[in-house]
Order: sequence, then C-alpha cells, then structure tokens
Amino acid sequence: MPIQWMDEIDPLLFSGKKVLCRVDFNVPMDGVDILDAERIELTLPTIRYLLRAKAKVVLLSHLGRPKGRPKDELSLEPVAQYLRDLLDREVTFVHDCVGEGVARIVNNAADESITFLENVRFNGGEEKNDPVFSKLLAKNMDFYIDDAFGAIHRSHASVDGVTKYFSNPLGGLLLKKELAAFNALTLNPKKPMVAIIGGSKVSSKISVLQQLLKKVDTLVIGGAMAYTFLKAMGEEVGQSLVEDEYLLQAQTLLKRARDAGVKVLLPKDHVVVRDLSTKDGLKTVTPEQFLQSYIGVDIGPKTIDLFTQEILQARTIFMNGPMGMYEQDEFFLGTKKVLEAIARSEGYSVVGGGDSIAALNKAGLAKEMDFVSSGGGAGLELLEGKKLPGLLALGFYN
Ligand code: ADP
Ligand code: MG
Repeated sequence: MPIQWMDEIDPLLFSGKKVLCRVDFNVPMDGVDILDAERIELTLPTIRYLLRAKAKVVLLSHLGRPKGRPKDELSLEPVAQYLRDLLDREVTFVHDCVGEGVARIVNNAADESITFLENVRFNGGEEKNDPVFSKLLAKNMDFYIDDAFGAIHRSHASVDGVTKYFSNPLGGLLLKKELAAFNALTLNPKKPMVAIIGGSKVSSKISVLQQLLKKVDTLVIGGAMAYTFLKAMGEEVGQSLVEDEYLLQAQTLLKRARDAGVKVLLPKDHVVVRDLSTKDGLKTVTPEQFLQSYIGVDIGPKTIDLFTQEILQARTIFMNGPMGMYEQDEFFLGTKKVLEAIARSEGYSVVGGGDSIAALNKAGLAKEMDFVSSGGGAGLELLEGKKLPGLLALGFYN
C-alpha cells in the first residue's frame, strides 16, 4: 500500500504545523441534535495523535447535501460543540472553510489546538472538484491528512483536488484501519464467507451484489431489497417496496449465482402490515399467505432461523443494510436477531452503512463486531473493486 500514513513520519514534523485534516463528520442530525456520533468518535485517535504532536489541527468535513450554498441547518457548528464537550478542550469554529478570515485564525492558533471549519459543501467548488477551490483549501496549510473514509469514493475538492497542492498528502489512522478491514474481506477471506445485504434499494447495491458473487459462498438478501428478488421469482409481494426496473437484473443475478455455485438465501416468511402509519394488520405470513394488500416490513421467524444458521457457520461475514424497517421497534426484530447471530458467530465480521450502524447501536451490539465501518457507499465501492478517487489521490494504486 503506497499510501504514506500519518504515523509513518516523524511526529516532530507536525509540531507547530498547520495540519488540514479531512474528516467525515457527516453524522445524522435532526436539525439541532446529533443522533449518532460514531463517526466523530472514530476520528478521535487521529485528532489526539496530532494534538500530542503539538500540531495546529484544522478539521474539515462535509455535512449533508447543501448543494453548494450555505444552509443554517447543515452548519457544522453543533458538531464542533459536540467535539468540544467530548474532548473537554477548546475548539475554535470558523464560519467558512477558505479565505482570509480562516487564514488569520489558523495562523494565530496555538500549537496543540483545534480549529474547526464550516461545511465544505457550502462551497460549489467542492463537489465539482474545482482546482481553484482546491488550491484555496490548501493555501496556508503545511500538511494534508485524509481520514474521511466515508468520502473516499468522492472526487471532490477536499478529497481529491486538494492533494495536488501537497508534496506528501497523508492517510489518517481511521482510513488505515478501514482499508485493513476491507483487505481482510477481499484478499483471501476465510471460508465460508457470507454477505448479508439489506436496506431499501436494489439500485444502489446491485453492482456490489454482482461483485460479491465472485467472493462469497452465501449471499443473504433481506430488507426491502429482497422484495425485488422475490417478485422476480414470481412471488406475491403485495405493496412491498419493489424496484420494477431492476426485476430483470435481479433475475440475472440469481441465475449467475446458480451458475457460480453461490447459495442465495431470501426471506421465506415475512412480517407484514396493511398500513405503515397505523401498523394495522401486523402479522407474520408465509409466501403463500402474502396478500396483494400487504406490505412487507421485516423478515419473519423462520427466516431469522435460516439466516442465523448460515451466519453461525461463517468464518467471514460482511453485513450492509438492515433486514427491515428497523427504525420502528415493531419491525426491528429481524435486524436485531441477525446482528445477534453475527455477534455470536466466530467469523471475522465487518458491518458497514449508516443505517446498519444505527441498527447496531440500537441493538447495543457495536462492540461485538470485529469491525464497524464508518463508510457505507465507500465500503461498497471498495468491495466492488472500483478505484476510489480519494485513494488514487493518496497514491494507493501506485
Ligand atoms: P445502510 O445505510 O445500512 O446502507 P440502507 O440505507 O440501504 O442501509 O437502507 C436502510 C433503510 O432501509 C432503512 O431506512 C429501512 O427502514 C429501510 N428498509 C429496510 N427494510 C425495508 C422494507 N421491508 N421496506 C421498506 N424499507 C425498508
Ligand atoms: Mg442508509
């Protein structure tokens, strides 16, 4: 891996230096409060390392999709406040991420200090990977560290373009751990390997499913995803979430799996309702009992058993996407039981995806996993074997 990691250079080099550190603090928020701070906590080793090295730490992140314009509800100020409380030390928040004002504050910052810049996506240049904006980000900084695994698949200025202005852009400690975990999944994983894929959209995960066929022994499909596959097989799925444009691809995938000798497990019973908001008609049904008016919201008990057996004998496990509408307690059981099975299994386990992590925390099982990945899309693209712009920029593929 020809990325130069931040802990491979002499820490004395950071002393008194302005270190621009791209982090992924894109945490779920309800406008005011942070709903899940996992991503902030995962970055602490990098921040603490730099503080110990007496650097002037400058944190840069995105939050949500402001589409190139400042939006009050997507300000990172509450995140800066959270970090201040978490570390119990001063964090200077700056209401911009480039320009004279930022330069002045960063230049005047003490050694062993934290400056926290405003949402980088408030600037249109970020998502366009604009060279002018990239140069502005880099201006006045001595080092660049990328520790934003969750954004590593984005060809954006703060991930990609900015690196051109540093002779030696560095990889952060979280990024290093993430890559090691995904390496364990992709290079010689212990067999049998089981991937459990759920969540809402076939469209966003079909290409990773196709790639996974080349690696796994068993593909377990749950969540809303499963309904497109079940419909493609001719089952009644009522009003469940289905992507009709993907029926053909789902069929093709099932056929390819058969040809490749990969076992595919789909739900064989379902928790259904007639109405999502009132939860009217909540019950468990077999495929034969699935009526046109039903909506599938979780996997049923037989499916939980089936999935659990498979997970328990796995030596390598990757999970992305919940098995049902886990946000609501009545529809959480399937996801919870699958996570419990992963926790009990001896296999090396990696769980990724924003909602999957939220479900893990809801089940109180995050500590039981071998690795909890901070990136959803980034992890999927790594598994797909795509070359990721952020890694390319750091020299990973050299
Ligand atoms: P992740 O963030 O872990 O990658 P996704 O974003 O792909 O996961 O999917 C999470 C969403 O999928 C959740 O909001 C959940 O409610 C939804 N979901 C899971 N199962 C169903 C279902 N049967 N019907 C509708 N939505 C579902
Ligand atoms: Mg999600």
